[in-house]
Amino acid sequence: MILTSENYYSQKASENYFSVSQYKDFMKCEAMAVANIRGEYQQPMTKALLVGSFVDSYFEGTLPEFMRENPELFTRKKELRSEFRKANEIIGRVKTDPLFMQFMSGEKQKILVFEMFGALWKMKMDSYLEGVCIADLKVVANFKNLPLWRYDLQGAVYQAGVEAQTGERLPFYLAVATKERVTDLDIFQIPQSTLDAALDEIAEQMGHYIMVKQGIVEPEYCGQCDYCKSVKAATIRNYNELLLER
Ligand SMILES: [Zn+2]
Repeated sequence: MILTSENYYSQKASENYFSVSQYKDFMKCEAMAVANIRGEYQQPMTKALLVGSFVDSYFEGTLPEFMRENPELFTRKKELRSEFRKANEIIGRVKTDPLFMQFMSGEKQKILVFEMFGALWKMKMDSYLEGVCIADLKVVANFKNLPLWRYDLQGAVYQAGVEAQTGERLPFYLAVATKERVTDLDIFQIPQSTLDAALDEIAEQMGHYIMVKQGIVEPEYCGQCDYCKSVKAATIRNYNELLLER
């Protein structure tokens, strides 16, 4: 299967390839990840994800098409919703910063496929500066929660993908802008030791995830996520156990 921007997010692509987001799905809940791959469950597109795609498409130069394809960006009065007006403001702010724009000046939405840990992987880079670095754009609520999103996993996979393709190990950066009242912006480098640890973690899990994806091993149900709730059967429970969970 040849991946293009049209079929990159297709069900067939997620059957054929692992990706960072699919890997993270497996971390969250194996049953949800498998249902997602089989097209039986789709995570809802949140406003936060849509804001991210809005800003990505600006830098890719495809914002007009993106706005045409996503009528939910607009109110019934055909005005841009406040989240996306904020996104425009953030774009305007980062455009004034030469360092930020230097990191965003690479090849946009570059797709790579490669083999790693016994599986095929797909990846799509926000800004690829060949021979220099890989940069990924993040629009987030604030800086302090940034590490909670485990971007080290993304950096580790992207770095490995570029290395598989070119033989060069490039540094991985996050170009981050915040949705705060006044936008903050900086470039964060994920240290090599952190990327190495993340790749080791992935190496350890992949054997199991591959078997679950192939249906050789039954997926584990987390019991907490939206997918698990949607397929569960009711049970009789002790009322008092809820007090202990608090
Ligand atoms: Zn679950």
